[in-house]
Amino acid sequence: MERIGIIGGSGFYSLLESPEVVEVDTKFGKPSDKIALGKINNCDVAFLPRHNSKHNIPPQKVPYKANIAALESLNVKRIIATNAVGSLRPDYAPGEFVLFDQFVNMTNNREDTFFDENIVAHVSMADPYCSELRELAGKTLEKLSIPYHKTASVVVINGPRFSSKAESKFFSKQGFDVINMTQYPEVVLAKEKGMCYLGIGIVTDYDAGLEGNPEIKPVRSDEMLAVFGKNIEKAKDVVKELFPSVYEKPKCNCVDSLDGSIITK
Ligand SMILES: [Zn+2]
Repeated sequence: MERIGIIGGSGFYSLLESPEVVEVDTKFGKPSDKIALGKINNCDVAFLPRHNSKHNIPPQKVPYKANIAALESLNVKRIIATNAVGSLRPDYAPGEFVLFDQFVNMTNNREDTFFDENIVAHVSMADPYCSELRELAGKTLEKLSIPYHKTASVVVINGPRFSSKAESKFFSKQGFDVINMTQYPEVVLAKEKGMCYLGIGIVTDYDAGLEGNPEIKPVRSDEMLAVFGKNIEKAKDVVKELFPSVYEKPKCNCVDSLDGSIITK
C-alpha cells in the first residue's frame, strides 16, 4: 500500500488516526526517530519527526539519507514537509506561510546524494518541488484563509547558528526570499528517489533583521519557537485538509525525475 510521508515537528503526531509506531533501519543508518504509521482522512501516512520527538538532532546532524530511505522502504511516494523559516524580505511576514519552489544550497559537508557508489547520475534539480502538490497546498491555504506566498526561494544554511547581519543582507540582495537549515538535502534526496516533495514554510522571524528598520531585532531561537508554536495548529489544519486529494493518482511527472539522468552503462 502506498503512503504519504509527513516530515515535520512532533506536533503532527496527533493528526494520525490509530497510529502504530515502527522502528526502521536502512543501509544509511537509522532515521531521526521511529516512524508512526496511521491514517488521515482514511489515507495511509507515515510520519517522521525530523529532529526526533525529543528535538535532540540539530539540523546539520539530521540523517537525511536514512530518513528518505526509511520512508521509501514504507512505500512513500509523496512527502509533505513543514519547516520554520526566517524571512529575508519585508513583505513575507512572521505568521505567514510560504510554498517553496526553489532552493539555494549554502550548507557544507552534508551527504546529499544516493548516487555516490558505482553509478553516475546527474539528476535535474531545475524544479525540485512538486508542482501539483504546490497547487493543491495553495488552494488549501486559500480555503483556510491563511495568508501565504505561492513562491519562495529558500536559502539553506548549515546552522545551527543563525546568520550574521552581513550574511542576511547578502542573502536578501541575492533575491532569496526565506532562510532555513533543513531543506537541503532533504528535497534533493526525495527527488533522486522520484518522489513528490512539498515544502511548506512557516515564517517565524526576519532573520538577522531588516535593513533600514532598526526596530526589528535579530532572531532568537526562543522567540522563533514561540511564533512557530502559535502557528502549528494552522499547519496541522493545512496538512489534514490536503487529504485525500494528495492521495489520488499523481498528475505530475516527479516519478520520472531519473529519466535520462543515469550515465553509467
Ligand atoms: Zn509530483
